[in-house]
Amino acid sequence: MNDSDTPKKSNFIRQIIESDLASGKHVAIQTRFPPEPNGYLHIGHAKSICLNFGVAEDYDGRCNLRFDDTNPHKENAEFVRAIEEDVRWLGYDWEERMFFASDYFEPLYEFAVELIRRGRAYVCDLTAEQIRDYRGTLTEAGRDSPYRERSVEESLDLFARMRAGEFPDGSRVLRAKIDMASPNINLRDPTIYRIRHGVIHHQTGDEWSIYPMYDFTHCLSDMLEEVTHSLCTLEFEDHRPLYDWFLDALETPCHPRQIEFARLNLEYTVLSKRKLTELVDGGHVESWDDPRMPTIAGLRRRGYTPVSIRNFCERIGVTKADSRVEMQILEGCIREDLEQHANRRLAVLDPLKVVLTNYPEEREEEFEVPNHPQEPGMGERPVPFCRELWIERADFMEEAPRKFKRLVTGGEVRLRNAYVIRCDEVVKDDAGEIVELRCSYDPETLGRNPEDRKVKGVIHWVSARHGVSAEVRLYDRLFTVPNPEGEEDWLSAINPESLEAVTAVVEPALADAAPGERFQFERTGYFCADRRDHSAERPVFNRTVALRDSWAKIAGKG
Ligand code: ATP
Ligand code: MG
Repeated sequence: MNDSDTPKKSNFIRQIIESDLASGKHVAIQTRFPPEPNGYLHIGHAKSICLNFGVAEDYDGRCNLRFDDTNPHKENAEFVRAIEEDVRWLGYDWEERMFFASDYFEPLYEFAVELIRRGRAYVCDLTAEQIRDYRGTLTEAGRDSPYRERSVEESLDLFARMRAGEFPDGSRVLRAKIDMASPNINLRDPTIYRIRHGVIHHQTGDEWSIYPMYDFTHCLSDMLEEVTHSLCTLEFEDHRPLYDWFLDALETPCHPRQIEFARLNLEYTVLSKRKLTELVDGGHVESWDDPRMPTIAGLRRRGYTPVSIRNFCERIGVTKADSRVEMQILEGCIREDLEQHANRRLAVLDPLKVVLTNYPEEREEEFEVPNHPQEPGMGERPVPFCRELWIERADFMEEAPRKFKRLVTGGEVRLRNAYVIRCDEVVKDDAGEIVELRCSYDPETLGRNPEDRKVKGVIHWVSARHGVSAEVRLYDRLFTVPNPEGEEDWLSAINPESLEAVTAVVEPALADAAPGERFQFERTGYFCADRRDHSAERPVFNRTVALRDSWAKIAGKG
């Protein structure tokens, strides 16, 4: 893979795989990434993708993309398409091995019939509420369903008629016959099939009126794909006995090993598809790919690169310990990548007019400015200069403390890649607001320092005659607290300042930016041209991340 990828660290899963290869238990590794197409993928899924595809790649194995589509009313084809795009964008390839659990509905049905034949499953006529009631609690054993001892023939007949659509939703289910007194509630005769009429499945249409449950589907899909290591998150640990039970009860020819790892939690955001769906449906964000969303599509639109996300997943590692990862780690990964690879540009986000009174009115110059200070190979671009410029309002103070190294009344500063200027006069409007600085430039200071005095500060600027107006979207964290899910009302922790749009002036080269192209705006941060809205006529840039982390300080104050 890419040479800027972080080198791979070992972890407990890699150790298991290495020992399985060494002992000859497996000659080749097969993994899978099994998303449910009921939402867009988020950065937590990226951890699972990097792990599953990553180990397959490193041990000469293969990883399948498998859609876990057993819940037709929440799933749809748009999510399938988005998931494919995101996995591919991250840099992984499932080749021809894209599957749907629904591809296996026929064999799964046969497996269910086989379980009934073996006396390991039965059709139960209790209602959903009764089933819940019979299940017992963590401290109390459950009770056997009155239908548990129904004959194999009767269950076979009823199950076939469930499939044929003879019974209404909720009237019957197929259940595994395990142990209603098991301390593990998952083993108390779990439901294997339920009736669902009138839903159109995005793959199978209205062909089926019964749908298999996740636990039954997952282990058998893994088995059918000859998965060797079925990697999932810790909440499935208590389901592992059931995963194994189905495979054992059916004496399947292969028995994948389920291994659980801790899911990724990230500070200042939420990583649950249910909550992300709520953010989208409730209009709290614009869309699934809103740049504030922790979705892969949102991060992509924000300006994150695939390698930055892969490096992040590598850096946080894979363990069994639950934790919440600091946002700084993710932000550090994208800064590191863009510091090396992003072209530098000049952009003024909060413009203040500067007039160089001693610079001839009609004169214009063009400076060849390197795209990257350390990488001459990244080339140069022309940057125009004239008598009227924009500088950042915050780069000027009438009366400044000593350590203010920028422009002050009567003081000098260097314009990046151009001349040293002095501020001679401050022009204000009736309200006392500064509207213009009248300055003079020193023609001897292009590319060299004045000999008789020291000029410390350097500020950026854009030619007012040539600059292009652009919408710049300053994104910040979506939530004001590190753990929104810990709040009584998580939606109330949404950061009301997570998006501030400003009208900036940018150097002309930026109007030609391709949608999605990334830059460092010097002294300001990393930005990318918005993939949806940017055009040469109406440039729009998203702030990916500021140059340095300022949040820690601000958050500390609050
Ligand atoms: P969510 O809780 O966000 O709804 P999910 O587990 O229901 O996620 P799936 O589409 O079923 O979403 O997940 C596909 C795979 O990604 C599963 O193997 C799941 O364990 C893994 N996964 C989901 N969320 C995370 C996470 N935060 N960290 C690591 N892996 C995750
Ligand atoms: Mg799930």
